[in-house]
Amino acid sequence: MAWDFETEPEFQEKLDWMDEFVREEVEPLDLLFRGKSDVVFDMKNELVVKLLAPLKQEVKKRDLWACHLTPDLGGGGYGQVKLALMNEILGRSMFASRVFGCQAPDTGNAELIAHYGNDSQKDKYLKPLLEGEIVSCFSMTEPAGGSDPKTFTCKAWREGDEYVIEGEKWFASNAKYAEFLLVVVVTDPEVPIYKGASILLVPKDTPGMEFVRNVGLAGERIGHGAHAYLRFNKARVPVENCIGGEGQGFVAAQTRLGGGRIHHAMRTVATLKKAFDMMCERALSRFTQGSILAEKQLVQQMIGDSYTEILQFRLHVMYAAWLIDKHKKYNREVRKEIAATKVATGHIMKSVIYRALHLHGALGVSNELPLAGMWNQVGIMATVDGPSEVHSISVAKQVLRDYEPSPGLFPTAHLLPKIEAARDKYAEYLTEENMHWIANS
Ligand SMILES: Cc1cc2nc3c(=O)[nH]c(=O)nc-3n(C[C@H](O)[C@H](O)[C@H](O)COP(=O)(O)OP(=O)(O)OC[C@H]3O[C@@H](n4cnc5c(N)ncnc54)[C@H](O)[C@@H]3O)c2cc1C
Repeated sequence: MAWDFETEPEFQEKLDWMDEFVREEVEPLDLLFRGKSDVVFDMKNELVVKLLAPLKQEVKKRDLWACHLTPDLGGGGYGQVKLALMNEILGRSMFASRVFGCQAPDTGNAELIAHYGNDSQKDKYLKPLLEGEIVSCFSMTEPAGGSDPKTFTCKAWREGDEYVIEGEKWFASNAKYAEFLLVVVVTDPEVPIYKGASILLVPKDTPGMEFVRNVGLAGERIGHGAHAYLRFNKARVPVENCIGGEGQGFVAAQTRLGGGRIHHAMRTVATLKKAFDMMCERALSRFTQGSILAEKQLVQQMIGDSYTEILQFRLHVMYAAWLIDKHKKYNREVRKEIAATKVATGHIMKSVIYRALHLHGALGVSNELPLAGMWNQVGIMATVDGPSEVHSISVAKQVLRDYEPSPGLFPTAHLLPKIEAARDKYAEYLTEENMHWIANS
């Protein structure tokens, strides 16, 4: 009997320490740099580096650094279930993942280089990435479309010992701070993209890599964001910078994207919990129309529904994490659950955060509470790593593989033949008297 919803006491101690450490030491940094979320990625910012150094040291001392990684890569190797519990704490703060060495997209990029990079790439990029000394970028989306890789046109071809890259990329997060970019390019346009794409490691300042502009998110000044619109004008990289082999781009990328998606979902639990706590406090504090909000049934429904939805979402995320630990790879079952939690992430953020924001009235939408910022995240979380619709489609396709069409004209659940079969099965008991009683009682 292996169903268990408890945390081992030794690991709970670690979580308790993390909870306090993040609240006391890390969350204040978010307040200090409010509205400047991309400083988290600016490893050249002396103030940020100075502030983070002692905190990272403390995390390493407690063996909590880079817990998404196996011990051979310098991580705790705790597995995804424990990582989920940790991310439920880290998700409260924009700096926390950086302080704990598990910041996306560096997490997935490190895994790619660890798996597929050569020794010199590991020395130059993996080591400092794992130490949190540099940041990286993963660039796949193109300006003409991100949801459908079949529309990608940014291409690369071989000339001697080099790949030559030509085309555009869009929303390449943190490219301006990155020491290197992993860029998905079409290397064979004659075959389906899933077999004709490759990942190239492009070092920063590579001649021919042009920043058309940096795109910001809502609230940021035009031109000051961290999401780059890039143009490659015959930029050249050595052939050994092809990570994972020519034509293997999607096989390699799926490994990293799967992990990334579930980690977003894990951190979302933290955001939801924060919004929910605010909702409950508000309901008990605000008096209007003759009672506190908590006494109004419409508000009680918001709280009841939010509680239930968060619990369901959290358990679903934990289940997906448990599946990854069990299978140790991103097989079909795992991919289906990761895609399902990805879809659920956008939906639940929309419902819970909207309720929390709305119950705070004008204050809720103001810049004096974190709720409007969380509301901004709803669209982001439903879009990053592929929009909800695409993942819903993928869930449906995986689910339908376990079903077959009905063999006859009517569904297999059609009651008439089933009743007939039941009567045949129990024919010996069906005397005339019993049949009369069943039909008339
Ligand atoms: C904050 C942020 C950071 C990002 N960082 C990165 C990054 O670092 N690297 C990177 O490569 N990309 C990044 N992206 C891009 C992201 O991966 C894409 O935005 C995403 O894949 C969707 O692509 P798109 O924006 O071109 O939307 P489109 O592909 O144009 O889709 C637009 C909308 O169409 C609908 N839609 C799409 N397909 C279907 C369908 N099959 N059925 C029904 N409806 C559909 C959905 O509503 C979708 O939102 C980032 C995005 C954001 C918001």
